[in-house]
Amino acid sequence: MGSNGQPLVGVLALQGDFQRHALALSRAGAHAVEVRSPDQLDELHGLIIPGGESTTMLRLLEASGLMTRLAEFAQRHPVYGSCAGAILLAREVRNPAQPSLGLLDIVIERNAYGRQLDSRIVRIQPDDQQRLGSEALEAVFIRAPVIRAISPAVHVLARYQGDPVLVEQGPHLVSTFHPELTEDLRVHKLFLDKIRACSQLSR
Ligand code: GLN
Repeated sequence: MGSNGQPLVGVLALQGDFQRHALALSRAGAHAVEVRSPDQLDELHGLIIPGGESTTMLRLLEASGLMTRLAEFAQRHPVYGSCAGAILLAREVRNPAQPSLGLLDIVIERNAYGRQLDSRIVRIQPDDQQRLGSEALEAVFIRAPVIRAISPAVHVLARYQGDPVLVEQGPHLVSTFHPELTEDLRVHKLFLDKIRACSQLSR
């Protein structure tokens, strides 16, 4: 942990909605760092890949040399991908297919809610009420992907219309919605719990 006991958590800041994630992390009790180059990963305990446009982010990740380093980083530390970030963490991407890090054994389809319903705010009841509480989560979907398949190794924390929208596998976390756009810090706090658990194990 950092000198004051707060985890140092990076937010990939090449493109997309990184500032709101950094703010949510600070409010949830972490020290947030905007990440733009591979060497910055060395000091971090975890990383968030924000929403945005996954194809653009992928190109920038490859051009900056971050893609390879990120794959190494994820072997040791938790990574949370939201929306476009979720697409980058999936094992398989559809509509269209594109390369990804494969950190979670999920199949994800981009822009899968269709055009007329492409953005919406809904309330969802957590499946895992032990870790998220019983109160509904406000979920903001913006041209969101849909998780079409998960392996048994993937744990579903919340669903919307039957589809998983918040899932974890080992240290890694994915949401197809944007918790950083609401006041509710539960998803960020859950990610910080995963980071603390991981740092304790590797101590
Ligand atoms: N539609 C975007 C993509 O496919 C993701 C949208 C988002 O991150 N809000 O990359």
